Amino acid sequence: MNLTYDRWIPVRRADGSRESIAPWQLTEGIASNPIVAVASPRPDFDGALTQFLIGLLQTTCAPPDTFTWRKWRREALTSDELRGRFSTVAHAFELEGKAAFMQDYAPAELTNKLDISALLIEAPGEQTQEQNKDHFIKRNGVAQLCPACAAMALFSMQTNAPSGGKGYRTGLRGGGPLTTLVQGKTLWETCWLNVLEQARHLRDGETKDGESDRFPWLAPTRISEAKPPAGITTSVDVHPDQQFWAVPRRIRLLAEVLPLPTPCDLCGAASTRIYRHFVTRNYGVNYQGFEHLLSPHYVKDGLPNPIHPQPGGVGYRHWLGWVENSADGTRRPAKVIERFRTQTREDGRLWAFGFDMDNMKARCWYDATMPLLTVPEGMDSIFKALVEHLIQGADWAAGVLRGRVKDALLGGSDARGDLSFVQAHFWEATEATFYEHADRLRAGLTTPQAEVPVKESWRAVLHTAALFVFDHHAQAGDFDAVDPRRLATARNDLAKALAGKKLRDLLGLPQPTHNPA
Ligand SMILES: [Zn+2]
Repeated sequence: MNLTYDRWIPVRRADGSRESIAPWQLTEGIASNPIVAVASPRPDFDGALTQFLIGLLQTTCAPPDTFTWRKWRREALTSDELRGRFSTVAHAFELEGKAAFMQDYAPAELTNKLDISALLIEAPGEQTQEQNKDHFIKRNGVAQLCPACAAMALFSMQTNAPSGGKGYRTGLRGGGPLTTLVQGKTLWETCWLNVLEQARHLRDGETKDGESDRFPWLAPTRISEAKPPAGITTSVDVHPDQQFWAVPRRIRLLAEVLPLPTPCDLCGAASTRIYRHFVTRNYGVNYQGFEHLLSPHYVKDGLPNPIHPQPGGVGYRHWLGWVENSADGTRRPAKVIERFRTQTREDGRLWAFGFDMDNMKARCWYDATMPLLTVPEGMDSIFKALVEHLIQGADWAAGVLRGRVKDALLGGSDARGDLSFVQAHFWEATEATFYEHADRLRAGLTTPQAEVPVKESWRAVLHTAALFVFDHHAQAGDFDAVDPRRLATARNDLAKALAGKKLRDLLGLPQPTHNPA
């Protein structure tokens, strides 16, 4: 299978119909019934395949300047143009052969044979299987994959690779990175909005420009057995395109050819060519210090570190960090988000997704969209400060809420129930209203004192939501024998705290003036 010519990417069109396309068909029917999204069997595959398409476009169609980027956004490249450009790299996109897509150049060295299910991220790692601790999914759920699903699993693994035991490297952005994309109305737009102009993408000065500097599987692997810094691969060692085509894991898929077609355990498609095993070996490429164009980063000791999803989900409390630079420069949004905000001056949507990893295992997959608000020039820092007030107030209210629910349910005992779901419920309950308030703050940026009624309104929202969530959990019957008096006291304490001075301070609201009676 060739991953530029063959139809292997499952997509959904505007009318709801589904089909599998070859990458060059991305813009077919764009005027009448456009493709709107990838529609694969798994959410991590959807995220991975969208990045695959962005990577393919970045590698073969990087626009020379912003003018061209804008032009192709309005008038998408035709499928003929895309086919022509993709054909220049097609030889690197064969799933099998001497040089096989995202697989190791020296298969004879890969001596560790594993079931194909170990290529799926939530599958237990080799070590867990040995210790028989694979509670995460049923080990026998997936025994065989069709070529398309095998390619998706391979790409998702190389992109998201968690730590996998001694010498089994994590992805270029670490295990389970957070990806933030600008989301368009069609799949073409979602891809194109996240392709950078050449000058933004390429490093200043000398760039390694050989084919295997882009597609590392075209040459022997830069293995990482030697002690750092010898075994490290940094951005000066490779072409920037390799960020999309990184191979932290040394892998070879093992194909079997059957006399009769058999269904794939993920998508159900029947195929005579199937994959039940792969071989692997540790000490694949050890990437460090990259600032990936699709991820937000924080800077520590002068080096960019990609941000990863954390327990508790992704939501508006992370929003600023994903769309705005921090004042001290230690936090940077993804380059594609930065470019969109500075070059289009439009509102848009941000799509954030990624695994929350606990070392080798995935705890959860997170997926959310949120608005991208464009602020009048020169007012960024004022807007940011106002939004920070809203978030700080909500953060404090969430903490107080959790504390009072704990009082009500567990009393003063030292019982350590996990109450993170209470905070998660609160964040979710206030999410949509938050963006309305942020939008109102933006609308009032040029009017003196316009933020005061917005913040008062937000204070009321937090108050109502906290009591609602309190009542929901305190009376849900999840815990038996709740003492009614303890419950009433806790609820009263919560209401008092939310009406108090601290929340007004955090929101930057003036304290009410008391008239001496
Ligand atoms: Zn399949």
